[in-house]
Amino acid sequence: MTLLTTFTERAAELDRNDKLASFRERFVIPDDVIYLDGNSLGLMASTVPERLGHLTESEWSHGLIRSWSTAGWFDLPLTVGNRIAPIIGAGADEVAVGESTSVNLFRCMVTAMLHNAPRSTILVEAENFPTDSYMAESVAALMPTASLRSFDEDLASALDDDVALVVLSHVDYRSAKIRDMAAITKAAHAAGALVLWDISHSVGAVPCDVTGADTDFAVGCTYKYLNGGPGAPAFTWINPRHMDNLRQPLLGWMGHRDPFAFAPEYAPAPGARQLVCGTPQVLSLATLDEALKIWDELDLDALYAKGRALTEFFVEAVMTTCPAGSVTLAGPSDPYERGNHVSLDIAEGGFEIMQALYERGVIGDFRQPSLMRFGFAPLYTSFSEVAAAAAHLVDLLATGAWRDVAPTERLPGT
Ligand SMILES: *Cc1c(COP(=O)(O)O)cnc(C)c1O
Repeated sequence: MTLLTTFTERAAELDRNDKLASFRERFVIPDDVIYLDGNSLGLMASTVPERLGHLTESEWSHGLIRSWSTAGWFDLPLTVGNRIAPIIGAGADEVAVGESTSVNLFRCMVTAMLHNAPRSTILVEAENFPTDSYMAESVAALMPTASLRSFDEDLASALDDDVALVVLSHVDYRSAKIRDMAAITKAAHAAGALVLWDISHSVGAVPCDVTGADTDFAVGCTYKYLNGGPGAPAFTWINPRHMDNLRQPLLGWMGHRDPFAFAPEYAPAPGARQLVCGTPQVLSLATLDEALKIWDELDLDALYAKGRALTEFFVEAVMTTCPAGSVTLAGPSDPYERGNHVSLDIAEGGFEIMQALYERGVIGDFRQPSLMRFGFAPLYTSFSEVAAAAAHLVDLLATGAWRDVAPTERLPGT
């Protein structure tokens, strides 16, 4: 029996004992595909077409403008926010859903800078997801007093008495390293700074408790582990202690206390409702709402435990069977310090190897210059898929068969 056969057998056993295994049936999974990119775009829940069918065949086509109230369209940003709240440790009516993560980052950054004046520095982690840095750059360019600084690993020595806001990701999109949200928030608060967490790669993947960490702002995507679909709207949470007299830059009419009074003066709706800017993206919100229904039935601790088990199993399968020196684990080796994706630094041919994996139906992604990323969404990924993907990868590394793949400039979907 070869080592790889051992992993296949262990995977079958793990699948038999997986209490979450039946959730896989709730998604549309294409034949002949091992989908390991749920950290980028989650699978579609199988009830989504019916929900959208109802929306187009009844709510929109017949209900028309009446559906803003009769079908609950007007409330969707908060209805959906209330489905996300328990996953991120927020309270009822504290989460608003709309716009993109980028826009929500911008809004929270400006809000924080207004709240924490005359401090003027935005401190952004150097390796953050690019949009976080770009948005900070635009805030610094727009606000005459604001200035931007980045820090590497060492936040403590970057904090000084001018730092108004620290912006960072809870789970790093490349290495998957999890940051200690509570400890970092505490350190930043002790130095007088506010903290904005981008939780795009942690929501639905690892434990996340914005209230427990007593942080200030959190934003994140819903098309990754929450399976909201392409372009699904993002969410924003602002700590209720900042909500009285909140000064935020996007005073849209849908966040007004009484939008249909068409009053000349802005007056904010109470709570997170004021974070709704313009007209809610009803089609996308309905899709996301449908996808999130699955979470009502989920034991989150079991979900996170499965996520750790999946990544740990993949790392073990690849690292114990791959040719020596061909792969380095580019991230934490302790599954408790890692999100639900694994990044492998490939010595040679990373892009071509990922292309060869696509041809074999294994879908991960590639980040320049040499990182292969594999996401293991615990809601629907099986251990058998993990074993099969690891076997394909190791086979390509061992045989060099990837050298025969016709070169392309880009991978599909990247
Ligand atoms: C995916 C991701 C985003 C995406 O932002 P959008 O504006 O919604 O496209 C932002 N930040 C992080 C950390 C991400 O992983």
